[in-house]
Amino acid sequence: MQKRALVVGLGIAGMSAAIGLRRAGWTPVIVERAPERRTWGYYIFMFQEGLQAAADLGIAEHLHTRNPEWRPGGNSWTVDRRGGRKPALGLLDAPSGLASVLRSDIEAALWQGIVGDGTGDAVEVRFATTPVEITQGPGGVQVLLEDAGAGKRYREDFDLVVGADGMRSSVRRMVFGPDEDYMVNWKAMICAFQLKEQVPSYEASDSILVARPKRAVWVFGLADHAPCAWLTYRTEDVPDRFAGGSAVEQLRAVFSGMDDDPVVRHVLDSLEEAPDHVFDSIHQVKMPRWSAGRVVLVGDAAWCMNTYSAMGSSSSLRGGAALGVAFEEHPDDIAAALAAYETGLRPYITKQQRSARAKQQRFVPSSRPVEVLSSVVLELIRKVVHRRMTAEYNASSAPALSGTAK
Ligand SMILES: Cc1cc2nc3c(=O)[nH]c(=O)nc-3n(C[C@H](O)[C@H](O)[C@H](O)COP(=O)(O)OP(=O)(O)OC[C@H]3O[C@@H](n4cnc5c(N)ncnc54)[C@H](O)[C@@H]3O)c2cc1C
Repeated sequence: MQKRALVVGLGIAGMSAAIGLRRAGWTPVIVERAPERRTWGYYIFMFQEGLQAAADLGIAEHLHTRNPEWRPGGNSWTVDRRGGRKPALGLLDAPSGLASVLRSDIEAALWQGIVGDGTGDAVEVRFATTPVEITQGPGGVQVLLEDAGAGKRYREDFDLVVGADGMRSSVRRMVFGPDEDYMVNWKAMICAFQLKEQVPSYEASDSILVARPKRAVWVFGLADHAPCAWLTYRTEDVPDRFAGGSAVEQLRAVFSGMDDDPVVRHVLDSLEEAPDHVFDSIHQVKMPRWSAGRVVLVGDAAWCMNTYSAMGSSSSLRGGAALGVAFEEHPDDIAAALAAYETGLRPYITKQQRSARAKQQRFVPSSRPVEVLSSVVLELIRKVVHRRMTAEYNASSAPALSGTAK
């Protein structure tokens, strides 16, 4: 009999883990709190690790990427205090093999892996369903599930439970303990949403940064989609995300004094009309172990790196793929598979979590001296990188020589 795993959460980590486990010969069942699959997404940088994991999971061919084409002079800008724009080093400019996508692009590609190719390999997904009790025994895990749609509760036995239910994971709370034990408060807030239109006077796929100490507004350009906005600020006083004023009211207050800048004004005005947005506090999740018995965590539930790391999606894909490989290598030993999963992945996760602090300075400087130093250093790098990219661009667009010299 195939072993059965309950995967909690239909996000990037949950779908990756389900595909990984199915490849290892398991029968995963996904439960998702939402009544249907979410199809909205904010801007995401995907790193090589994520692209490689997508290939390992067999979904790379479904992944739509949206890198804007580079043009001489660049397509990224910073806006100074007098409102002047200067070319900037774009985050895609360095030779790092990054891809620009929307979160929904990754989830759509994974969804193709979940529904399969129509040959009966689809993963079962139950919407509007959450676990409310998890009881481990020597031979398995019994889970009390609540189906909000049907208004009923039922018990079901599994060989493994995978908590992929995000930063505020309920599986983590039920099995490992309260959020406060694992969530490290970064004293910062984030708001992300899709712009309906680019900021006037910029090219459609341009990226723009307006950064001041402790506050920053980014616009991330895409090749074939309206840009995405990303606002962040540092604060000692992290608001209760479920209380207080709306995101628009809070952000208007925080960015007052910067809102005479046309970019900031356009972004704040657009937020009022945006059909969807994320507005949340920023944390990292740090755990000494990602598994307890037959319950294992993956993605933001286990190691949320946070938005500044720009590695959450890539690591969620990699984590799901790694879980599958661990079970392929240890088909009859759950403890050995979970130990291998953790040993193999932890050094990479630790390294990425540490680097997020330095990256935070790039996204939102902590002080005026950091802002000045960072802009000087980035400008030096930009000159070198853009000189090389311009030479490559000119070489590739030069007319090819044809015929034989006489
Ligand atoms: C603004 C922003 C920008 C980001 N930018 C980047 C970037 O540039 N690069 C990058 O790699 N990463 C980025 N990230 C991080 C990345 O989006 C996350 O790390 C990644 O999506 C985490 O996926 P996940 O599946 O672990 O969690 P989630 O996406 O949170 O998914 C969890 C799923 O579980 C469901 N769920 C929750 N509770 C329950 C429950 N009790 N029962 C059943 N289902 C439940 C949820 O509805 C959801 O579907 C960014 C994040 C944000 C917020």
